[in-house]
Formats: sequence, structure tokens, C-alpha cells
Amino acid sequence: MMVGDLEQIEQWCLRVPVRKGEETRQALIREAVLDRTLRPRREGGAFILPVLNWREAAGRCLFDPLPERLALPRHELIGGIAVMQDHDVAGAEKILASRPSLHTVLYATSEVEGEYRTRTFVVLAGTPTTRTDCIEYGHRYTIDLSAAYFSTRLSTERQRIASLVGHGEVVLDMFAGVGPYAIAVADCAELVVAADINPEAISLMLENIEQNHARTVLPVLADVRNLPEVIPWQFDRIIMNLPVSGAEFLPLAFDLVRSNGIIHFYALVSQEGEHRQGISHLGGEVVSERYVRSYSPSQWHAVYDIIKKE
Ligand code: SAM
Repeated sequence: MMVGDLEQIEQWCLRVPVRKGEETRQALIREAVLDRTLRPRREGGAFILPVLNWREAAGRCLFDPLPERLALPRHELIGGIAVMQDHDVAGAEKILASRPSLHTVLYATSEVEGEYRTRTFVVLAGTPTTRTDCIEYGHRYTIDLSAAYFSTRLSTERQRIASLVGHGEVVLDMFAGVGPYAIAVADCAELVVAADINPEAISLMLENIEQNHARTVLPVLADVRNLPEVIPWQFDRIIMNLPVSGAEFLPLAFDLVRSNGIIHFYALVSQEGEHRQGISHLGGEVVSERYVRSYSPSQWHAVYDIIKKE
């Protein structure tokens, strides 16, 4: 979520009937969980209230910032860490003081880069760490932003995929990182093989499996290219979240998914339908192509839900 300009800001939200709106708002203020820097809004018969953290029944919504928020420099919130876009120590101190839940303010000194898809940071304020906890939809993820990839902006997407998984499915998460997709789908699946090439991601995933009691997740430290030699199975569903270079792994995913199985393929695209032909060549049918989030003025992350035809 971006903070500090006129853009709308994504935050956790609670929807309540309008008649319950004021009562709920007061209760959230008493609990110190209402995000008082964002403007609550009405949608039909519902009152939508911004809350600071995930809680039961919360979803993600866009809000207009209030003046308190506009006074802060631009930053992104990831658990107890704020990541600034500028190297602004005074601004970092202001951000740190704006929320009791924040422990650290960082400045990213690189883009997301390399095989592990990580960034480098300097600490501008607070506790000198890149490690924090994020809670989403009832799951707690311990993350380390400089050691392994994690994005809060995918929380709604993870929830969407989890809602599609049927009981008893055997799922492969090809690029699992610290495990947020694998753990989100673990409640329904019989088994989730969660592979990643980054040892630190697997180490954090082990912590996350334990603290979420995700007993159906099998972490595998491997280059996914070698997976068929180690686990030569056919999966009911494959999650491929490596948008920049995932297309090169599509043939492998088609080898590993069973007929009529599903592939969720995330890709960086600059036009709609960009990968449809390639998918069709491999024997897939695109069930849906959805916008996930913006990447640059001319590119965005899309997700293709694909069925492997018999
Ligand atoms: N799915 C996770 C999430 O949503 O937080 C992580 C996604 S991140 C964009 C991509 C992950 O793929 C990184 O953790 C990286 O280490 C891993 N990766 C890159 N190439 C790989 C490969 N050849 N085999 C296995 N994992 C790979």
C-alpha cells in the first residue's frame, strides 16, 4: 500500500451494516485498531472502516487518505516495517512515531532483483532489522525482507487461490518463498510441495509452517528444474509466482500437472492476452486472465488460471 500522496491507499477493512457503523467505529477506536489516517466510506448499505491489522472478517479495501496521512512521506507498510521511497531520516522518524505497531523504517537501495527476488535496504529509524511478522487472513508469516521475497500486496490473491483449492488436492508451489501461498492453501489440500531455490526462504518457511501448524506443507530446497527427478508426481494444481521469468518454466509445469489439472501462472505483461498463444501451444486453456497489480506505467502483473486439456 502506498502512503503519503493523493493515491488511494489499500488497507485492511471491516464492512458493517450502516446502522452498526458508528457503534463499530467507536469500539475500534477503544481497541486502538481503527486506522485514523484513512477516511471510512459507505458502499450501498455497508459502512467500510479501515483497520490497522488483519482481524477476523477483514478484507482489503482502498481508502482516501486523511490530512494526518498526507503529512507523512511516501512509504509502504509490511508488518512492523515501513519502507520509504526516499532516504529521508527526519521523515522516517515521523513515520515511526505515527504508529505504535511500527518498529523499523527502511529505505530500499535496490529494486527486487536476482534469482532470489530480494532487495537491499538501509535502516533509517527504529530497530536495525529487516525481519518482521505479517498477519493476513489468520496466518502469521515471519519474513526477512533482505533475505527472501514477500509482498503484502498479494494477500487478496493468495486468498482467492486458497478459496479454489478442493479437499484432497495435491498442490505444487513452484516458487514458494517463505510459504505464504503454500500455507494459505494448506488447510484444504492433502499435500502442498513448496519448492524454493533460496535456503533462507526455506528456513523462514519452516518457521512459518510451525507457527501456522501447516502440517500438509512439504518444504523442498531445490531448483524447481530438478524437481521431477526428486518428486516425479502429477499434481492437481500448480502455483507459479515468478512473474518476471515464470514463462520459461511453463513447459515444466505442464509436465507436472495432471490432465484437467490447474496452473496459476503469474506473469509480467504489457498487453492483455500476451501469453495466451504460448499457453495454447502447450495444451492449456485459459479459464481467466486477471490483473493483479501494476508494475510500471506500461506493465502489470497478471495471473492466468489455466486448465491442462486432456
Ligand atoms: N511465492 C512467494 C510469495 O508469493 O511470497 C515467493 C515469490 S518470489 C516472486 C519468487 C521465488 O522464486 C523466490 O523466493 C525465489 O527464490 C524463487 N525461485 C527463483 N528461481 C527458482 C527456481 N529455479 N527454482 C525454485 N525457486 C526459484
